[in-house]
Parts: sequence; C-alpha cells; structure tokens
Amino acid sequence: MTKLAVLLCLLALTPACAAPQVRDVPQAPLPALSDRDDVMRIHFIDIGQGLGVLLEFPCAAMLIDTGGEQADAFNSDAALVAYLDAFFARRTDLQRTLALVALTHPHIDHTRGVGAVLSHFQVQNAIDNGMTQGSGGAGQGELQQFARDHAETTHYRAVHLEDIADPHGLTDAVIDPIRCPNIDPQIHALWGQVAVDPGWPGMRFGKTPFQNANNHSVVLRVDFGKASALFTGDLEEPAIRDLLKRTGESGALNVDVYQVGHHGSFNGTIPELVTAMSPEIAVFSMGPASRQLTWSAWKYGHPRKEIVDMLEAGMTRRRPEITVPVGLAGEKFQQQKIQKALYGTAWDGSVVIEAMADGRMKVVTAKHGGQ
Ligand SMILES: [Zn+2]
Repeated sequence: MTKLAVLLCLLALTPACAAPQVRDVPQAPLPALSDRDDVMRIHFIDIGQGLGVLLEFPCAAMLIDTGGEQADAFNSDAALVAYLDAFFARRTDLQRTLALVALTHPHIDHTRGVGAVLSHFQVQNAIDNGMTQGSGGAGQGELQQFARDHAETTHYRAVHLEDIADPHGLTDAVIDPIRCPNIDPQIHALWGQVAVDPGWPGMRFGKTPFQNANNHSVVLRVDFGKASALFTGDLEEPAIRDLLKRTGESGALNVDVYQVGHHGSFNGTIPELVTAMSPEIAVFSMGPASRQLTWSAWKYGHPRKEIVDMLEAGMTRRRPEITVPVGLAGEKFQQQKIQKALYGTAWDGSVVIEAMADGRMKVVTAKHGGQ
C-alpha cells in the first residue's frame, strides 16, 4: 500500500482498508468455466487447510464455511476474497450478494474469513450450529452479532439436531432462501448442534466426542434437479454413525458429490457412509503437505491414505491419473496414484464441479483444467 493510500485509509476508513493484505501468497484463480447458466457449480475454493465452498446457482450464490489457513506462506482471507471478487466479476447479476452463509462449526479453519466476507459482500441469510466456544467461536459469534445488528436484511438461524425430525432433513426460508425460477435448488440440514451427550465413547486430546465441536457440525445436502451434494463439515465417526441411523432407508445420504469429511482425516469418513452415498465425485479441501507448520495438512496427515483407499474402492468414476502425497500419519506422507474421481484443493487448486439438472457432471480445476 502506498503512503497516500495508508493516509486515505486513516482519514476515511474506506472498505479497501479492511481488505486482507495480499502478501507473496498463492492466489486461488477461478478455473476457466463454461458460460452455461442452467447449472449448479460447486466451487471448492483453495483456501489452504480448511473449508470454503461456494455454490453457484442460476439465480443466486451461497457459501459454506470461510476457511482457512493463515501463515506467512499463505493468507486464506486474501485467497477467499480474491476468489469471490473474481466470481462476482463474472456473475455481475448477483450484485456481490450471498443468499446464504453457512458455518459448519466453530473451528478456525472454517470460520477465519467470516469477517472478511461480511465486510466485502452482502449476506442475506446466515446459519451455524449456534455455538460460540472453540477456536472459531469468535467467528460464529461475529456472524450472529452481524445478523442481530442487521436484522432487517440478514436473517439467522442456529441449526439444532433436536429440530431435525424428518430423515430428509430440515429446511426453511433461512436454510434455503434460494428460489430459482426454472430449477429450484433444495437445501436441507441433516445435522447440527447436539443438545444431550448420546454417550459417544472414546476420548481424544482430553475431550469426549460430545465435547468436540466437530461432532456438532451443520451437515447440508444440496439438490439441483437430479444432481446432489453432501457437506459434512468435520463430522467424526460417532456422529456419522448416528446420522446414518437417523436417515435410515430414506436415501437422504445418497448423493453425487461428497465434500470429504474433516479434510480426509481418518475419522471423517466410514465405509457405511460411502456405501450410503455412492458418490460419483469426492473432493478433499486441505492444504498442501509441503507447508510444514502447526495447524496444517502436513501436521495432521490430511488426507489419510485409508480414506483415499476407502473412497477409491467405493467409487467408479475416474479422473486423469495423478500422483499425490497422502498421509500415513501426522507429518508422514507417501506418494500415491489416484485414478478415481477424487480431487483435492492441495492437488488441483480450486475445484469446480459443474452439475447439470439431469445429473451429468463435469469437473474443472485451477491447475488441471476441464475433466
Ligand atoms: Zn476443519
């Protein structure tokens, strides 16, 4: 920033002054997309280790989580805002408006950019799991406060599991505010904050599964005609088992696109879930194994080989072969060939799935183009 720009900032507090500073960091270029306007596009934005998914519809857009990873080597706020700026420059009809911002749970790799999003874009509706504790609790608190301060223009709902009675999930005008004239997307919440400890066994890092915000993740299913996608946030095994029980034979988990839970952690996907989904395409949102920092994919060993193998065994669609690092444990990786339609933001850059209402899908990635 020039001295003059700094001075103008100090004097006028222009919105540009709140913009995250773009350092010498990888950006998240928008992949080259078709000009079709009758599709749903699911943009898995490369925000490093974390999650940030933009869903683009013919008449609106929504965001699930706001990333991401922040260190000297990577600024997820800058990457997220740059991506959304490029998106809205293409979709000028949407007037920089997000019909919905959904935060899955209060961990910083999911909420970090919420302030940047609220200050740069219009947000009409907001949902989260209602919690304000945790490494990203302040982010969810900021979203809730924003909705209280702008109650006329921004509607908010906390998603609680006890409100979800239908196996197909919960919906209302805040969870699904989008009404497109031809094909109307359907948005349902299948999981949220759990009120009473179900007695989930196992302690990790001194916490029971109930005390871990991951297991209170808002889980969303989005349908566009015959195309469907599931976003489980960082939901872990005990909660996934209960989710499978609750949805039963309803088919509510039978989807085409899967946001691989918990960045491909060993506890974020189980074989029964893969069977219930029978996904055509699965996408990991994670940082690269090369950034060897705390709070990184490298530190956690994301994505784990066992999850990659589980999905490769349960899927049939293929992708152009790619050889990538997969985690054997925290800080330990080995190279592996991927042949099924598994994509990763650390492998492919931002990944966009273009889903047609008849269920046909195409994948476009920032690094490897259309597939
Ligand atoms: Zn996470």
